[in-house]
Amino acid sequence: MKLENMGKVLDEIREGGRFRKVQDLRMVTASKGVRRDGSECIVFNSNDYLGMTHEQEVQEAARDAVRWGTGSGGARLTSGAVFELSDLEKELASFKHAEDAVIFNTGYMTNLGVLYALGGKDDIIFSDALNHASIVDGCRISRARTVIYPHSDMAALEELLKNTPVSGQRFIVTDGVFSMDGDIAPVPDLIRLKEKYNACLIVDDAHGVGVIGETGRGSAEHFHVSGIDIQVGTLSKALGAEGGYAAASREICDYLRNVSRPFIFSTSISAVTGMTALAALRLLEREPERFVGRLMENTRYMKEKLAEAGIPVEPSDTPIIPIILSEEEKTLAYASRCIEEGILLSAIRPPTVPAGTSRIRLTVTAAHTKEELDRAVAVMKAHFPLP
Ligand SMILES: *Cc1c(COP(=O)(O)O)cnc(C)c1O
Repeated sequence: MKLENMGKVLDEIREGGRFRKVQDLRMVTASKGVRRDGSECIVFNSNDYLGMTHEQEVQEAARDAVRWGTGSGGARLTSGAVFELSDLEKELASFKHAEDAVIFNTGYMTNLGVLYALGGKDDIIFSDALNHASIVDGCRISRARTVIYPHSDMAALEELLKNTPVSGQRFIVTDGVFSMDGDIAPVPDLIRLKEKYNACLIVDDAHGVGVIGETGRGSAEHFHVSGIDIQVGTLSKALGAEGGYAAASREICDYLRNVSRPFIFSTSISAVTGMTALAALRLLEREPERFVGRLMENTRYMKEKLAEAGIPVEPSDTPIIPIILSEEEKTLAYASRCIEEGILLSAIRPPTVPAGTSRIRLTVTAAHTKEELDRAVAVMKAHFPLP
């Protein structure tokens, strides 16, 4: 990018109505935000699915952790460690029924770190067309060739596996829960294919953990299967902290700790962040019904009320609720109306989703009260559909 051309590009972004600004918002509960001018909104685009960020026990763990230092001061391989980060890795591994786990600084960096470290020049990564940007970028920085398969299309994937010669390793990588549609990857079929073609299966459960499976363990539990080689996850969504992890065999985890540059060359997450995630994980394991059960109940309630209000909700098994309005302008206008009335939801449009599928996307959390859900439905109904 030539700096003298930057202004022009920004103008084009503005003219296309796609100029974005960060939200200046403070969450006063896990579901309610306050702006600088004092106005309030109910938040329907947070990934804090279980409301862990505002759980008393989790906040106390964060407060307590600060005595081990505010920042970690170094990478994990040097000085950047507290006992609890190793404990967290052990407990994440056991939660995901894996031998071991490695923590990275974010979920985004986890995908970069895994795909960079594992994708060698003779290897091929088969990647779902709707995978998260961090997987796309991980494929880019790996030295492997990337083959994109049509979204969750197992017949097409099998054809590609069959017809693409490879001298190195085959990888299949997919989101567990897809963030834009809230649909779930066909994990049992992926396991069958990875076995048949001797591939390594990587499933990113960033939107799966805390959300699907009876006790919130993600897509393997949802389908009652085992056999995912690497389960990627984040600490920043349902676990209310920041960071990411890969849960896998001891050998893969040792390999990542020794070879993955995002792990080796970045300062570790802090004690505060790690102990926040650990407290949230323990709370979830102790009381799954209170969190996952409540999330499922709120999701069911919201979808039912929206449907009753005449708003066409796309079916999904997750708290991600897309409402397809197709046209970009209509979607933006509708979202603005709702936001003006204190319901913060997202308008998703190209290039995030294909042209003609612009949509409202809202996520329900376990923290929303019935009153908040009812209020959102009332506002959404009052403006739907726009002329
Ligand atoms: C959010 C998300 C990530 C990134 O996780 P962060 O911890 O926010 O960096 C990675 N993969 C998927 C599928 C996600 O939805």
